[in-house]
Parts: sequence; structure tokens; C-alpha cells
Amino acid sequence: MSSVLLSVSNLSKSYGGRLAVDGVSFQVMAGQVVGLLGPNGAGKSTTVGMIAGLLRSDGGSVTLNGEPITPGNSAAKRKLGLVPQDLALYDDLSALENLKLFGALYGLAGAQLKQRCAEVLQQVRLSDRADDKPATFSGGMKRRLNIAAALLHRPALLILDEPTVGVDPQSRNAIFDTLEALKAQGMALIYTSHYMEEVERLADHIVIIDHGKVLADESPAGLYRRLPSQAALRAELAQAPAAALLQELARQPGVTSVRADGAALDIGLQETAGAPAVLAWLAAQAGAPLHFATNRASLEDIFLTLTGRTLRD
Ligand code: ADP
Repeated sequence: MSSVLLSVSNLSKSYGGRLAVDGVSFQVMAGQVVGLLGPNGAGKSTTVGMIAGLLRSDGGSVTLNGEPITPGNSAAKRKLGLVPQDLALYDDLSALENLKLFGALYGLAGAQLKQRCAEVLQQVRLSDRADDKPATFSGGMKRRLNIAAALLHRPALLILDEPTVGVDPQSRNAIFDTLEALKAQGMALIYTSHYMEEVERLADHIVIIDHGKVLADESPAGLYRRLPSQAALRAELAQAPAAALLQELARQPGVTSVRADGAALDIGLQETAGAPAVLAWLAAQAGAPLHFATNRASLEDIFLTLTGRTLRD
């Protein structure tokens, strides 16, 4: 069984009397990738700022390997790396010089600093740009340099706050490749995002927050099990079906809902694998559909089920 690396307990913080984070608790196990998912303003940045010891909480606690993390405990803070939303790079220093500066802040020097700079540049695939200034980099390359800076001191946990916002698709893929490689090496990650597909690609565990509160704290599979329909089947018939056929369709095994708009049917299914039997039944009753498509449910549907709103509201 894996051990608890980070424990976040009942964290809260208000800005000017307005609660931004309201009793947030969750854990990160060693080697686990946790996606912190929520719409803009949900409290993700405030939460990770407190976890990283940058922001003082109004209440609650954070421990890393059992040791409390607070703004005053710099030894504990050094066991994690934070890639903030706002980039912190010096435009008139080269990429390598930037890293040397960050490394010195972590107490690295000499041959060790040089070696770590080379290693982290390779990890983010910027070795060939080491001597170039960040001013010549795309937004995504700057972000990758910031990830490199956060890795220099070999943190046990890397926290990334919306690392793909404002990033070109090529760099986005490079960031994912880097994060997947870090995951494969056993590094624990916390990754905040309001993009479901990103969290889904990387996370072993998902914490959904909204209005500063945790709404769900589960594996992706566990989240999907909360949905009444795992999949949707859209079928267009040659003509609008009779009401009796729709009622009978709704009673077919594995069908969770039926909605008709003229000849177009939207059928909720317990699982995607149920689609062929439902299509065969439809074909026998009403003739072969002119067109059909299945869609697996997404984390977007889960957020909608939990809050009644879409993530992009
Ligand atoms: P997210 O990262 O999920 O977008 P944030 O943690 O940035 O959410 O913000 C949570 C809430 O706290 C929002 O309502 C935001 O407007 C507010 N907030 C964040 N930072 C500050 C600040 N420095 N001063 C005042 N309000 C803030």
C-alpha cells in the first residue's frame, strides 16, 4: 500500500471577509498524480498557494511526510516545487542563467548546480535553447523553463497551477510528455486545471472543487460510476417514432433515458457496450437508423451532475 505524502486538512482562507477556500481536505499518496479541477474562481490557486506555504491560511493544516508546511517553515517548503500561474523569469538572462539563479536560491552550487541545470533542461526538452533568453521563447517554452526551475532541488511533490493556460499546442504536448515522464519516475504531482481532458489524461485521482469546497475526491473510475449514464447514443430514424415505441425503448436493458426531437433520438446508456443491442432493437422496431453516434460521458458531465452547471459557466 502506498503511503500518504501530502495531507491537506480543513484549509480555509478568506479575502476581505469573502471565503475563497472553505474547509478543503484531501491527500496525495506517494507517486500519485492528483488533478485539482474546478472552474475559474473555484479556489484552486489559493489552495495550492497555501499548500506550497506561499499564502498563510486562516485555518487548517498541510503536512508533507508528516511535517507541517507553513510560510515560516522553509525546510519543509523545499520538499516541494511550485510552478505558479505567473511566470517568474528574468528576460535579460539566458535560460541557463535563470536556472542557475533559481538553483542558488535552493542552496545548489558548483558542479552539482551545473549538473542539475543540464538535467532539468533535458527533462523539459529545452537543452538546445539553454543559451537563449526567455524573451525569445514562446509562452509554452517559458512555462517549460519554469517547470525546470521548480524541479532543480528534486522536490518530492511538484505542484503545477494551470500549466497550459496561454500555451501553444506544441508546447502543451511537450509539457504533457514531461509530466508523464515525471509520473513514470514516481514523482507525485498536483495539477490544477479547468480543462477536464487534461486532468483526465494525467490524473490518478481527481479532486473537484467549486466555491472553495471539495465536491468530489475520487479516482476517475469512481467519478464515472456516479453518473446515471456512462454513454450517450444519438440515432436518427427515417421518421419520428410513435410515443409507444419511445416508452418501450426507455424500458430496454441498459437504457437510462430517452429524449426525442422529431426523428432524432438521444438515448442515455449505462455503458457504451450497450449500444449495439439498443441499435439492433431500434432497427427491428423502426427500421435501421439513417445515422448514429455514441459518446462516452466526460468529466464535464460529472461536473454538471455535481453542480447543475457546466465547468465553463
Ligand atoms: P481559481 O484558481 O480556482 O481560479 P482562486 O483561488 O484564484 O481560484 O480564487 C478564488 C476566489 O478568491 C475568487 O473569488 C477570487 O476572486 C478570490 N481571490 C483570489 N485571490 C485574491 C486576492 N489576492 N484578493 C482578493 N480576492 C482574491
